[in-house]
Amino acid sequence: MKRARNFNAGPAALPLEVLQRAQNEWLNIEDSGMSVMELSHRSAEFEKIHNHAIQSLKDLLEIPENYEVLLLQGGASLQFSMIPMNILNEGQRADFVLTGSWSEKALKEAKKVGNTAVVASSKDEKYTFIPKLEDIKLNEDAAYLHITSNNTIYGTQWKHFPETNNVPLVADMSSDILSKKIDVSKFGIIYAGAQKNLGPSGITVVIIRKDLITNNENIPSMLNYSIHSKNNSLYNTPPTLAIYLLSLVLDWAKEQGGVEKIAEVNGEKAKVIYDAIDNSNGFYKGHALPDSRSHMNVTFTLPTEEAEKQFLKEAKQAGFVGLNGHRSIGGCRASIYNAVPLSHCQDLADFMKTFQESYKA
Ligand code: PLP
Repeated sequence: MKRARNFNAGPAALPLEVLQRAQNEWLNIEDSGMSVMELSHRSAEFEKIHNHAIQSLKDLLEIPENYEVLLLQGGASLQFSMIPMNILNEGQRADFVLTGSWSEKALKEAKKVGNTAVVASSKDEKYTFIPKLEDIKLNEDAAYLHITSNNTIYGTQWKHFPETNNVPLVADMSSDILSKKIDVSKFGIIYAGAQKNLGPSGITVVIIRKDLITNNENIPSMLNYSIHSKNNSLYNTPPTLAIYLLSLVLDWAKEQGGVEKIAEVNGEKAKVIYDAIDNSNGFYKGHALPDSRSHMNVTFTLPTEEAEKQFLKEAKQAGFVGLNGHRSIGGCRASIYNAVPLSHCQDLADFMKTFQESYKA
């Protein structure tokens, strides 16, 4: 069977076992004589899948009782607006740490809803690092502090999270949710588009502390956490196929031994590629400073644009997919989410070495 060595940033590789299980169940889900796409979202069969996905997330991330898991649409991008619409009140500010393009986008949308402030940023240094925790000073009127836990485009990742006391910490974890253990109780809201570590695109996971779900009837229903919460995320027709695949990916994550085991493997995968960069005598240069390096997106450049072009061309010929950097910054990027096997990372590291040896400027 042909299977690409897929380093796409998102939508990204899914575990082969998940795709095979979906294939086996494709025409007859839960012994219904239907495919999952044909089930009513109000049917017992679908509700079982839906509730199983929510419960699996609770199990895997050890989500405390005072949190709710919502499955929403509109991507992580809609959360950029929904969060301030729901939890930013008059007389308050939303504090932001800027660590890349996605935090900038989140800030841009929050500004349309209320007052905001940037409390730390690495923009002037081309987003090569995560600001130091001690440099983050919250405003007294902060409604929440927003961070992007992993910066998909620049390849940086928070290793420790700020202590915000009673100010809710809100994290966009789109590109590293489920990649390592986190203490959910430190956060007010965690949100993530599914299409990197959780499943296909079309579903967004929101983990929200229950006291942040307020009953504000002025917020349009589809943008109102309270409406989705009261309806167990079944207020309108959900993306049933995406939720089904999410539930299979979560089963797979449990079979891998859970997030701690997954984090161990992710560490090994990242090391293999960062070692290839560090042992190249400067031929490959990592974008992120070493202590901010992401275990999910490894970003690097080559000595010239010409060399990068040649590298990407030969990589493609060798069966590697998705190694080009984001269109906004160029360079190269290997996205090594949970479903990317260690062997693919080893193959890439070998390829990088071979390319360097054979490249003539
Ligand atoms: N936040 C981060 C960190 C991302 O990487 C992305 C997409 O790549 C987004 C937000 C936007 O997600 P969506 O396309 O689901 O709106």
